[in-house]
Amino acid sequence: IRYLGTSARWRDIFELDRDIVGKSHFDVAPGAPDEWRAVCRRALDGEDVRAEQDLFVRVDGLHHWLRWEAQPWRLGSQRIGGVVIFVEDVTERVRIQRDLRENERRLNAIFETAMDAIVTFGGDGAIRSANPAAREIFGYGAEELIGRAVETLTREPAASDEVSRMGRDGSMNVIGQRRVVRGRRKDGEIFPLELTVSEAGLDSGRLFVAIMRDLSPIEAERRRVNLLRAELARISRMNDMGEMVAGLAHEVAQPVAAIRNFSAAWRRALALAGKPPDMNLLAKIEEQARRASEILTSLRNFIEKRQPERCVVAVAALIDDALKLVLLRSQAKIARAPVPAELADACVRADPIEIEQVLVNLLRNADDASMDREAPEIVVEIGKAGPERVRISVADNGVGIPPEAASKLFSPFFTTKHDGMGVGLSISKGVVERHGGTIAFRPNRPRGSIFEFELPLQSCGGRLAKTLETSKAEFSVAD
Ligand code: ADP
Repeated sequence: IRYLGTSARWRDIFELDRDIVGKSHFDVAPGAPDEWRAVCRRALDGEDVRAEQDLFVRVDGLHHWLRWEAQPWRLGSQRIGGVVIFVEDVTERVRIQRDLRENERRLNAIFETAMDAIVTFGGDGAIRSANPAAREIFGYGAEELIGRAVETLTREPAASDEVSRMGRDGSMNVIGQRRVVRGRRKDGEIFPLELTVSEAGLDSGRLFVAIMRDLSPIEAERRRVNLLRAELARISRMNDMGEMVAGLAHEVAQPVAAIRNFSAAWRRALALAGKPPDMNLLAKIEEQARRASEILTSLRNFIEKRQPERCVVAVAALIDDALKLVLLRSQAKIARAPVPAELADACVRADPIEIEQVLVNLLRNADDASMDREAPEIVVEIGKAGPERVRISVADNGVGIPPEAASKLFSPFFTTKHDGMGVGLSISKGVVERHGGTIAFRPNRPRGSIFEFELPLQSCGGRLAKTLETSKAEFSVAD
């Protein structure tokens, strides 16, 4: 097997000298695999021998992948004069193929194990592939989704319309946007679904990739947290209630005593004169009974489990109601600063009971903090906070808040009171933020703290606003 001729590329691959004609390959290229002898023999016997990928290790240790073909070199119709060997270095191609395979495996692993549903579909909207999560979320069997219209997976007519339109004419209005739509499982159940669609530009045509997340567990969790929060708020109100009961007993005792007095007067008058006395007396009894029942109702409303509701209410009325509840147990001098004229009719859109709870919390905290002061004083103030916002602040001259406590105040269960629950401020923050507002605290001068919250103002045409001229005496239970 001696060389008759070689191409430059051949010599390059095997690192051979130019001058090798007449020499044996095995002499000039030590380390050439022995199988080559057999290959040449088979070609000399008339066989076409080839290999698509053959590993060739050069003397310098470099690995090459070769594609080769050894053909008989026919001199005439029957005679074989030698062997023609073609060799192509396919190392690069093999590397690329290996990388591609690896990439594919990696992508497949992501596709197969993703927690999110991944569905690919073509320009016609027909599903090409769906990962196990997609099958599980939508409740379909292994091959069931392939070929179906992608719209089957969503309930939203708009969303599926957009997806199919996108498939048809390529309008891109959903591409890349994360949106929440309503998904539809195989059994017809509708559920919240987060959807993102992207387009992969393939040579073979358009391919869309939809990544979808079942939001129903998150939704259920959100509902559960809301329920818990409402329950916590109720418990906190119950806690407040305990403190209010003493005040309430005192408050209700007044109309009840009045009813007894008026009734006794009625009875005496009837006994003396033998005829029914002045009807005004009866009206007074009714009036006192109504007052007693109103007090009880407002307390019950405050404590009851209820759905939040929104209505337009006068800020002043909210403050009045909260003050009434707090004055039932407070020792402090509670005053309301004069209301700026521009805010006399200010209204907010709010759940009155919730905002009252915030105010009661702040007032109660202020009261607790200033309890041991010689002259405890709490001032409630209404002010403007920007053109569209009202600020309500509760300032006390109490113990104040040490810097290390400041960052924890609004966290649940932070308390420095031996009987505190530490949920008041955290609930208040939640309430205020749900109303589109903010709540904050700052130190008061010369001592004490100021807690204040802002709410967006709402126009109410002044109709709902209660008069603000009501003096403190009207809330007081001391007299
Ligand atoms: P609780 O009143 O049950 O402790 P809160 O969330 O209402 O729960 O208050 C948390 C803590 O914040 C209180 O324990 C107290 O240490 C502090 N705090 C709240 N308001 C004031 C205030 N006006 N002055 C001083 N400390 C306060």
